[in-house]
Amino acid sequence: MAEPTQLAEVVSLTALTPHTTELVLRPIEFPLAFQPGQWISLQLPVGDHPPLNRAYSLAEPPSPHGHLTLVFDHVPGGKGSGYLSSRKPGDRIPLSGPYGHFILPETEAQHLLLIGRYSGLVPLRCMVRALAGHNTLRKTTLIAHAPTTSEQLYHEEFTALAARHSHFHYLPFVSEAPEGHAGTVEAIKQLAGNGRRVTPMIAGIKAFARPLRSLFMELGFDRREVKLETYD
Ligand SMILES: Cc1cc2nc3c(=O)[nH]c(=O)nc-3n(C[C@H](O)[C@H](O)[C@H](O)COP(=O)(O)OP(=O)(O)OC[C@H]3O[C@@H](n4cnc5c(N)ncnc54)[C@H](O)[C@@H]3O)c2cc1C
Repeated sequence: MAEPTQLAEVVSLTALTPHTTELVLRPIEFPLAFQPGQWISLQLPVGDHPPLNRAYSLAEPPSPHGHLTLVFDHVPGGKGSGYLSSRKPGDRIPLSGPYGHFILPETEAQHLLLIGRYSGLVPLRCMVRALAGHNTLRKTTLIAHAPTTSEQLYHEEFTALAARHSHFHYLPFVSEAPEGHAGTVEAIKQLAGNGRRVTPMIAGIKAFARPLRSLFMELGFDRREVKLETYD
């Protein structure tokens, strides 16, 4: 982690669902250039040996005002997300970044198959918004998992985007258990089975992401073809 650390100021905290919050930060010292899919590291003054480093994916593509938009879910008893939930506008948080290789392939002829669970949708949403914003949204399917219907992050936004763009398909699923995704397995088999070529990108906790990577490998994909961003 060689990126320099700087202070950022909390601009706003907004509840997106009952258990997720959008946090907007303004870097104070210098602007951050990043690619959709990347993340930043926050250094939080909590835990047994502070600072506690916690990674958060960027939810919005880079913008002229330079604000950084993050979204976190409230982990029960979680020190990092608990600390962030209690921040107020004007508070300051040290951060560094950007980091990560979970980014869109440079040239993309293939069907993009984005799969995320809950806050795992955050980097995927950033990619989709960047593509839609540049009018370069090619054939893309987003499989979105939520633990409950009230926790379906960006559900209205993705539904509206799918209605506007014939290239964009949105498949939402709800299941409490991270590994309980029979509907997802079926959808993946239909989209990527029988030698159909797609570019899979999966984000979320390991219990969700890893079995899906194994599924792609069973379908004939090379491990390296399946891009993964795991949170835990
Ligand atoms: C590259 C990367 C990008 C990330 N991006 C995001 C993001 O955009 N939004 C976000 O909410 N989190 C993200 N995370 C996870 C984040 O860094 C923290 O791990 C998370 O907020 C939990 O920290 P905590 O201290 O509150 O909980 P901890 O006390 O560390 O508890 C973690 C436990 O909570 C469970 N859990 C529930 N939800 C999550 C979650 N979202 N991430 C990790 N564990 C979880 C896990 O099973 C784990 O056992 C990312 C992690 C990585 C490595």
